[in-house]
Amino acid sequence: MPEDSLLDHALVRLDEAAAHVSIDPDVIEKLKYARETTKARLMIRMDDGSRKSFLAWRCRYDDTRGPTKGGIRFHPDSTIDEVETLAFWMTFKCAVMNLPYGGGKGAVQVDPRKLSKAELERLSRAYIQAFARIIGPDRDIPAPDVYTNSMIMGWMADEYAQIVGQAEPAVITGKPIALGGSLGRGDATARGGYYLVRHLAEELGLSRTLRVAVQGFGNAGQHIASLLAADGHKIVAVSDSAGAVKSDAGLNIEMLLDAKSKGRSVETTVGQDGHEALSPDALVGVTCDLLVPAALENMIDEKNAASVKAKLVLELANGPVTPEADAILASNGVVVLPDILANAGGVTVSYFEWVQNRQGYYWPLEEIHERLRAIMEREGRAIWNISRVKDVTMRTAAYVHALGRLAEAIEAHGTQSFFVS
Ligand code: NAD
Repeated sequence: MPEDSLLDHALVRLDEAAAHVSIDPDVIEKLKYARETTKARLMIRMDDGSRKSFLAWRCRYDDTRGPTKGGIRFHPDSTIDEVETLAFWMTFKCAVMNLPYGGGKGAVQVDPRKLSKAELERLSRAYIQAFARIIGPDRDIPAPDVYTNSMIMGWMADEYAQIVGQAEPAVITGKPIALGGSLGRGDATARGGYYLVRHLAEELGLSRTLRVAVQGFGNAGQHIASLLAADGHKIVAVSDSAGAVKSDAGLNIEMLLDAKSKGRSVETTVGQDGHEALSPDALVGVTCDLLVPAALENMIDEKNAASVKAKLVLELANGPVTPEADAILASNGVVVLPDILANAGGVTVSYFEWVQNRQGYYWPLEEIHERLRAIMEREGRAIWNISRVKDVTMRTAAYVHALGRLAEAIEAHGTQSFFVS
């Protein structure tokens, strides 16, 4: 489907799930459109005195189950289509986890690696100036995503506080601890995925020691590699936007983390401690038990899906597998733990952060881990059971699970008139 938008691809999953449940067609129709998407052009002063402008968006896809929730991405290839699709996924992800949120997302079309720290701060503050009327602790709550982090969330929370004239930490999650961030938010996305794999290991027939390949070595990728390696699994290949490395004996994670912390690609570790060069395109087809896409959308498509040797794919990235690739993987017996479940640990701990901000009472790390584990296991088990009973993939089962909750809320609100943009 080369002409289709990313949202069209995503809606294929909604239609697949709708075929397995008895739901008012009006509900399905409502979920096919974003409620509102706002565009702005952010103009900032560069360090050399010149001015530059950047396109930015904020989408509130569906707020039936609560305030919209979703990250802000800084990426040169971001588009309105990508933002709305990510917000659609957030809608389903929050419903999968039974969080009292709808789905939202934002982006700035920028390569943040080309900005100085001061320019990045001006851009982050400009984003909040542009969208301050859209966001709010009971309306729309941003968080980090690709190429944004807790430092950026801190600037954004500060800008919002200046605009509304009081501290409002619950307006944004993924903040630094000093500004009301939660313990455990840093590795929450990966940790949620790790708990899920551990919980379903027996049903999935996983061996005690897994060989793991990780695509993308940022927040999600680095943490999943660290958690699995600490649990005795072997990380045999990793990649980032600049290159990839492999080692059948297991990569040296500390060395990889050290390279990334110094702003270098994983590729720069080739030749040390048995690390061998690997073409980034070959990562998906590396011999392993578990493949973890943790980079961007559409990385596993109809061209490379047949090369996947792993028996299990853990989607820490959003939308890494296209619908065509899904069909190929399923026919080859590869189980995919879908993004709206697998990477939902991030938004779940964001929810914990929001709750703590509103209570003004902060939980210890063990409590965060324990609550996250319990929710991942509860929803993972429910989706596993749906997939067995209905004989569908875990992805379809996850959508079925979320659709039930969304339909209940939409019908409770009344379906006589919907507001969509
Ligand atoms: P990040 O910016 O920290 O890391 C992204 C990584 O992907 C970087 O290492 C980058 O080099 C790499 N990358 C980019 N293009 C690549 C390519 N073509 N091949 C290989 N690697 C490539 O971002 P992140 O927060 O880790 O997010 C990664 C994915 O996880 C995204 O899809 C994001 O939406 C999703 N996600 C993140 C969170 C979170 O809490 N951070 C939560 C849910 C989902």
